[in-house]
Amino acid sequence: MSSVILVTGGRGLVGKAIEHIINTEPVGSRFGKKSNETWVFVSSSDADLRDPEQSRQLYEKYKPTHVIHLAALVGGLFKNMKYKLTFLRDNMLINDNVLHSSYEHKTQKVISCLSTCVFPDKVEYPLDETKIHSGLPHESNFGYAHAKRLVDVQNHAYKEQFGCNFTSAIPTNVFGPHDNFDLEDSHVIPGLIHKCYLAKKNGTPFVVSGTGKPLRQFIYSYDLAKLFIWMLREYDSVEPVILSVGEEEEVSIKTVADAIVKAIGFEGNYTFDTSKADGQFRKPASNKKLLTLMGGFQFTPFEQALKETVDWFVKNYDNARTGKKQAA
Ligand code: NAP
Ligand code: GDP
Repeated sequence: MSSVILVTGGRGLVGKAIEHIINTEPVGSRFGKKSNETWVFVSSSDADLRDPEQSRQLYEKYKPTHVIHLAALVGGLFKNMKYKLTFLRDNMLINDNVLHSSYEHKTQKVISCLSTCVFPDKVEYPLDETKIHSGLPHESNFGYAHAKRLVDVQNHAYKEQFGCNFTSAIPTNVFGPHDNFDLEDSHVIPGLIHKCYLAKKNGTPFVVSGTGKPLRQFIYSYDLAKLFIWMLREYDSVEPVILSVGEEEEVSIKTVADAIVKAIGFEGNYTFDTSKADGQFRKPASNKKLLTLMGGFQFTPFEQALKETVDWFVKNYDNARTGKKQAA
């Protein structure tokens, strides 16, 4: 049986990583391409998935047997705080169109991408797959979080009413090549890489937003790509799986800034702008379910992954997504 695997959001950070892994791992291996598979990576220029008709046409065109659904309005803390309604509406529309088109086209399996932002803010740690709906998300991203939580609700409803095989993955903070390196709207790692790069190049101050004290768990996009491919082939339950490094890998934003300074080779001092928000203090997530099911996984060490990302950014500066240049 041949398979057509459609990756929505296929030209973003995570989509490009899946494309890289599927094309570079040995054919037929656990994470490599299988001979009966056709992989299709699409972006908003192929179809605006907020629109039901464009979504339907995309499914008509590719007739996917499997979907990895990554497309979303995505951004860091500061973009989430500015556009709560847009994050809620756009993501609800995108997710509803993808899931319903998948149902109508009898897609055999859909893995949608959530985020550890969906978890309650006030909850007993570590976060695990059973706690998604056990309290309100952090107020800084409640639009995005509620839209993403609904995917889990929809997955269960599609399964109960129609028997659909829809599930979800819950990654922690992701970084890697092809990220959005915008100075204002990106996530912390790409944002700080860009800021530190400019500070070194122009001899200007390097300023980190907030106190530097919040803690995060980061996963390299190439590692995450392998975990998505594993889920596609080896996981068949509606219940979500957290895709993450271990809880002991939580690092402070200051540690991240120090590692970026080292990887860029910035020699000046840097400061914290404590007038800027810290967001959620921490959201440590357990990867116990993942490792038990997979039988272990070798994650790329954080400093190595960060260096590879910095090297990619410096090499691709003219073409990287940096926001300011695109607007110019
Ligand atoms: P990204 O780099 O911003 O890529 C987003 C992708 O979604 C792009 O390909 C974009 O298309 C597409 N897209 C956005 N709006 C669309 C629309 N209306 N119609 C069709 N496509 C649309 O984001 P990412 O970091 O790879 O995120 C991928 C998934 O991981 C998302 O579901 C996100 O919520 C989740 N996630 C990300 C992180 C993180 O730290 N980055 C953490 C946890 C979960 P264009 O290329 O045309 O813009
Ligand atoms: P979050 O994990 O969803 O909150 O997303 P982010 O990747 O945006 O990380 C936010 C954390 O990094 C907060 O504690 C911010 O104060 C801190 N931070 C420091 N500098 C930056 C920056 O340049 N951009 C972003 N997005 N966050 C920053």
